[in-house]
Amino acid sequence: MTTTPAQPQPSAARKKSWAEPFKIKSVELLKTTTEDERRAAIAAAGFNTFLLPSQDVYIDLLTDSGVSAMSDHQWAAMMLGDEAYAGSRNFYEMEATIREVYGYRHVVPTHQGRGAEHLLSRSLIKPGDYVPGNMYFTTTRLHQELAGGTFVDVIIDEAHDPQNTHPFKGNVDLAKLEALRREVGAEKIPYVCIATAVNMAGGQPISLQNLREVRDWCTEHDIMLVHDMTRVAENAWFIKQREEGQQHRSVAEIVRDICDLTDTATMSAKKDALVNIGGFLATNNDRLYDKACGFVVVFEGLHTYGGLAGRDMAALAVGIRESVDDDHIAARVGQVEYLGHLLEDAGVPIVQPIGGHAVFLDARRILPHLTQDHFPAQALAAALYVDSGVRAMERGAVSAGRDPVTGENRLPRLELVRLTIPRRVYTQAHMDVTAESVIAVMEQAESIRGLRFTYEPEMLRFFMGRFEEI
Ligand SMILES: *Cc1c(COP(=O)(O)O)cnc(C)c1O
Repeated sequence: MTTTPAQPQPSAARKKSWAEPFKIKSVELLKTTTEDERRAAIAAAGFNTFLLPSQDVYIDLLTDSGVSAMSDHQWAAMMLGDEAYAGSRNFYEMEATIREVYGYRHVVPTHQGRGAEHLLSRSLIKPGDYVPGNMYFTTTRLHQELAGGTFVDVIIDEAHDPQNTHPFKGNVDLAKLEALRREVGAEKIPYVCIATAVNMAGGQPISLQNLREVRDWCTEHDIMLVHDMTRVAENAWFIKQREEGQQHRSVAEIVRDICDLTDTATMSAKKDALVNIGGFLATNNDRLYDKACGFVVVFEGLHTYGGLAGRDMAALAVGIRESVDDDHIAARVGQVEYLGHLLEDAGVPIVQPIGGHAVFLDARRILPHLTQDHFPAQALAAALYVDSGVRAMERGAVSAGRDPVTGENRLPRLELVRLTIPRRVYTQAHMDVTAESVIAVMEQAESIRGLRFTYEPEMLRFFMGRFEEI
């Protein structure tokens, strides 16, 4: 089957110094706070870092979504926004860029990734259908469920083990896929959804070889292959580092290969594509395109703006090209690995291998005195904020939510705190301060108390849920 090496290659970041392939032209000043102020702020936020005002945050590692620093070329493009209701010049520029860089034929703009997921799920899923994917993502699965579908996890088992160093933990287990087909029949599987650089697994890549096997399986059973391409460039970088025969190829070439193996894509352009807002559904399927155009006018906006301003689409067209540049992506992933290695060297348990967009702390092992129903990752993120003003987020039982059928808490094997690095925003010194704070919090881990809900929203509860200490 796979001929990939058992261990990931040591990163260049560890062997020699490197610096960002840009210089800073404009800065945003940060506020510093005292520990007492932070204690009051996190209590007022119900121990949920999503409810903190960003003014009270020093280093913001909540997410890499929509928080990139745009380049001077992107800002310049924004001044050339054609704010026409219909047929904006920027739409055609964006469409041409997507066709050229990613290769998909039809493009439907949306306000962000979940807008595209909504159009896709509504267009393709019927009640009673099953949608296999390489680990769930919160909004992706919810839109599948709202359309009457059931998500089925077909990622390899290694992905659920934070200490396993498999180089492609985003790979699909084809036996799981085949078992689902035998159980429910191909006609109940409207599509297979494959994410690149799987977010919930820790930013872990899928290999080209595995993707080809999935492609062949989908072709054999006449099932559409959908690509959640939110972090496709980071995935391509890992393929270049780790997959046999790919070292001499550019990230742009590998990105194109990945896209060419799939039929349809949803994109949150707020991640890899370096913009503050935007997304799209792209497809080679004419029928899906027609259906999605019917829905986009209802839920997002006309099919040539889909909830975006002309200037947003202009910035996106430039961002897509910058995102597949080898120097950019080497520094982007290099900075994440830099932080990860600082923590690793200090003995902090983190998800292995270090991911493309974030370092994930293993809250189970840092807080062994807390059971999972006391939400250790949520408590650890709150403690980190109190220590230094670094804002992280929970990716564990709170994010996993409740089973829609039984109503029970889903207790995932991964109980993580995500330190997500915005693109082109922070310096190495910010990473040093972050690592010192994580180490300090770990040293006083026994004093961290578990949490219980005081307010639990029905859907996507991690965003607005509130807690108190037990
Ligand atoms: C962020 C994200 C989405 C949803 O995109 P939004 O722009 O936040 O709506 C979908 N899939 C993955 C893998 C993501 O990381």
